[in-house]
Amino acid sequence: MFSIFEIMKTNLNFSVTILGNSAAIPTKQSHLSSQLVKNNNDYFLVDCGEGTQMQLIRYKTKYHKIDNIFISHLHGDHFFGLIGLISTFHLQGREKPLSIFGPKELQEIIEFQLKIVQTDLKYKLIFHHIQPNKYDQIFENKSMIVYSFPLVHRIPTWGFRFEQKPQKLNIKKDFVNSFKPSIDEILCIKNGQDYITDDGSVIPNNEITIKPPKPLSYAYCSDTRYDESILDYISGVSLLFHEATFDNTMQDLAISKYHSTAKDAATIATKGKVSKLILGHFSARHKERSQLLEEATEVFRNTILSVEGMEYTIQP
Ligand SMILES: [Zn+2]
Repeated sequence: MFSIFEIMKTNLNFSVTILGNSAAIPTKQSHLSSQLVKNNNDYFLVDCGEGTQMQLIRYKTKYHKIDNIFISHLHGDHFFGLIGLISTFHLQGREKPLSIFGPKELQEIIEFQLKIVQTDLKYKLIFHHIQPNKYDQIFENKSMIVYSFPLVHRIPTWGFRFEQKPQKLNIKKDFVNSFKPSIDEILCIKNGQDYITDDGSVIPNNEITIKPPKPLSYAYCSDTRYDESILDYISGVSLLFHEATFDNTMQDLAISKYHSTAKDAATIATKGKVSKLILGHFSARHKERSQLLEEATEVFRNTILSVEGMEYTIQP
């Protein structure tokens, strides 16, 4: 049973916490790819490089709330931490199921690891195999839809787009205080119906409600070469995370290694008309990352460098 407060509340807090932003190998300060996407009480883990569970603990995330994990591809820096996290959940007595979205081989790898260490998990792992080469809806709950889409890397790799669902109308507080509508009536008003008072007069819906905020969206693109085919999938998002492994002097290396430069990321952000760009997946070669930011902001002004441990609220 919901309280009136819970039913009235429609503003969702949507954010991403960067757990690791180093490419390929960790450094003293930087960990491997992982981030926690939160939409109010829904916790989604995106990639799970080695060390992810320590980062989840270090930054005091309520990581037991994670029910869905999305793995972009099977390079070690994006999933070698997964078996450790699965094992920790088991040792801590987790009972609720855990969904894992990734290539079908990921299921074989995890099941093989569990078999060899003779661990019979106390909870259920549910694997969802992501389809190659297509834009696909892979997850939906009451407030969020997640899509996968192909990136351009040396092995099959996917990006993810998190889309908040449109929210229901907000009801004005003074109306609630004056008329004390029932929960059923509140639900009807939130769905756009007028309110009929005890004496039969009609109060139009638009007088007692406020339009909800526009749904927000977040896209994750790591790892990928510069490729305009991804524009269709990331266009118009509120926040785009894009890998920026190299600076401009390493453009050729970026192409040959199927990675992007900071300028590539900014060009994608500009052409995709996104609201804000956050860079990550930095090569350990770049001790000083200000150069990456400079190169990106020349092309797309609203760019920031990701910082581990920071939680970024996704805004319009
Ligand atoms: Zn990587």
